[in-house]
Amino acid sequence: MLELYNTLTRERSALLPHRKGRFSIYTCGPTVYRDAHIGNLRSYLMADWIRRTLQTLGNEVTHIKNITDVGHMRQEVLEQGEDKVIAAAIAEGKTPAQIAEFYTQRFLADEAAINILPADEFPKATDHVEEMVEIIESLLQSSLAYEVGGNIYFDVNAFPTYGNLSGNIHESQLQEAVRVEADPLKKDPRDFTLWKKAEPGRSLKWPSPWGEGFPGWHIECSAMSIKYLGRHIDVHTGGVDNIFPHHEGEIAQSEGYTGSPVVSHWVHGQHLLADGVKMAKSAGNAFIISDLVERGIDPLAFRYLCMTARYRTRINFTFTSLKASETALNKLRRHYVLFNNASVTNQDNEKIEEWNKRLLEKVCEDLDMPGLLDGVWRLVESSDIEDSGKAEVIRRVDNVMGLGLNLTSNMYDLPESIINKSKERASLRATSDYEASDRIRSEIEAKGYLVEDTADNSVIRIKNRSEIREEKWKTISSSAEVSSNIAEGSLFPITVGVVVTGFPEDTKRCISSVIKWTDPDDTEILVVDNGSSDSTGEVLEEMSTVHKNLKVIHSDHTIGDGAAKNVLLKVARGKIFILLDPSVEIKGNFVDRIGELLDSPKVGIAGLAGLRTKDLLHFHDGEGESGDMDAMQGYCFALRRRDIEKVGLMRESFRYYRNLDLDFSFQFKEKGFEIIADHNLPMELHEHRGWTALSEGERDELSKKNYGRFLKKWRNRTDLLVSTT
Ligand code: AMP
Ligand code: ZN
Repeated sequence: MLELYNTLTRERSALLPHRKGRFSIYTCGPTVYRDAHIGNLRSYLMADWIRRTLQTLGNEVTHIKNITDVGHMRQEVLEQGEDKVIAAAIAEGKTPAQIAEFYTQRFLADEAAINILPADEFPKATDHVEEMVEIIESLLQSSLAYEVGGNIYFDVNAFPTYGNLSGNIHESQLQEAVRVEADPLKKDPRDFTLWKKAEPGRSLKWPSPWGEGFPGWHIECSAMSIKYLGRHIDVHTGGVDNIFPHHEGEIAQSEGYTGSPVVSHWVHGQHLLADGVKMAKSAGNAFIISDLVERGIDPLAFRYLCMTARYRTRINFTFTSLKASETALNKLRRHYVLFNNASVTNQDNEKIEEWNKRLLEKVCEDLDMPGLLDGVWRLVESSDIEDSGKAEVIRRVDNVMGLGLNLTSNMYDLPESIINKSKERASLRATSDYEASDRIRSEIEAKGYLVEDTADNSVIRIKNRSEIREEKWKTISSSAEVSSNIAEGSLFPITVGVVVTGFPEDTKRCISSVIKWTDPDDTEILVVDNGSSDSTGEVLEEMSTVHKNLKVIHSDHTIGDGAAKNVLLKVARGKIFILLDPSVEIKGNFVDRIGELLDSPKVGIAGLAGLRTKDLLHFHDGEGESGDMDAMQGYCFALRRRDIEKVGLMRESFRYYRNLDLDFSFQFKEKGFEIIADHNLPMELHEHRGWTALSEGERDELSKKNYGRFLKKWRNRTDLLVSTT
């Protein structure tokens, strides 16, 4: 029997079907105005493992996964410029329905790529507005909902168990929600929208007894789950962020409508993180399946990666761990093929049953996939069962794992030409003609095969994708991977550091100008190639072969700006560290002047363009002015490396560059350092792509977040300002 943690009862208990041998599962599905990222897919993998386990245990399962194609496409959201995709599609003359259809197809393909079994139905919200209206009408009749000016709200105070699912976690989120959305029409700020009146000019709208409008988000899942699975649903899944308000609302609506509990077991999966924070498109740290494919990584490696942690644990995604999972998966595939090729001598069915049972028991313990994987590797190594038996057990448990091992092509199945070459090579080896045998080995390997020699034998197989994939260069996945030289002595007078995210022309212009105006014997040039996907990485590599004092550090994805700059600060070995923005072009000797400014130990930062403020709210561009400043802009930001020990590194919560320079400046101010600008430094500022490459909406959102971080820490430190000292 499968036991799972139930969010509602807060304990682990057996899944018991309402009808014997038949389970119903409802999964909150994707919002189809953008691609599902791999964090979303982690949630769907969890549901898939639950379904596969129940089926493998001999049950029939009906699985429904809805498609949210309304509600999130609110006009206000569009106008805020929040979603580039819809805006772009509409600009191309597409309808919301076409956008939804496009992303639905991509979603289905992504699920298939990681072997998620398709749900029995994928009902669309827009096809079920009538059902939603029916539920809302019934809630109105039983006084669980009320109407105000064409809007219908659920009356939370009329439903005493509201809050039971989310418990105390909803308190803080609720406060947050209320702050954002103080709707004067509501009786209680906790009341949530069931139906919203269409604003003028809105195209996605439906008729209702209360006029034209559109449904709230939670009501779609009540309507579709009850329609397809009835009034008793065995399992409902989602990610932890669905608990409140979405599922709390769904319970109130569904139970208010049917008069009794609808869902027996609520199961919620923890988040996939990237760079330590929840993966989300808005955080700029989301990856999609095609990002993996573009990098030549097998999407099923992601499935394997998700099996290495329990579903109630967060996973921090990195390409390094994904590649490690890919290697492990390929190894498992090779073992499976070899076991499958082994001849059956005396099949021990008892052993097979015993292993199978032992492995399935792991899964039944609250979906212990890491435990299952561990068991599978023990089976691989085990000597108490013959190889053909191992193949049989692996085949069976893979019905739960879903790694598609049975579809692995036989990589030991070689074409005639390779077999002949191998024979030829074997005879050369027998006569100790290693030179000739190595030549043939290279020929075989060039054709995509791997030759593994043992003392008296040689095994040839087709290379895995990861073995064919040539890593262009070594990469890092986070700043934490880079060891710090901050406490180490200086090896050069100067380090110039630049972070680039792409734009090869800008990169070339900036770095070439630095090379032109610095002495290669005195200057170390460090560049972090922060996840660029155009030719920037190649341009830098090429430059570094000619200019030996240029060192390039490639990141395998775009890490935050604070993290990337910290990589520079940690790696640098110059006495003076000069951070430049790639929009800067050097026009003369800048190093000597910076050296003069930093000659005074009181000065912590020297640079081109400073900022002054009287209140930390309004900052005045000090460009065109020189002298004492409150902060230095990131175009050119020079410091003595040894001061970093005192001041600390940059805050990596700043993923976007904006205001990070202010924040770091205040770290210096707090330690009593002065900040000096010299607007005559020989530098030209070109288009600043960190700014111009983004839409206005994105800029605003990212800037606002960073400014919030800055203010939270420094709001009360006006004592540090030039005007008050
Ligand atoms: P959405 O399309 O935003 O409604 O999300 C679809 C599903 O993915 C929901 O069940 C979310 O709870 C889940 N989800 C969203 N972000 C993540 C994440 N970073 N890791 C795991 N699941 C997530
Ligand atoms: Zn839902």
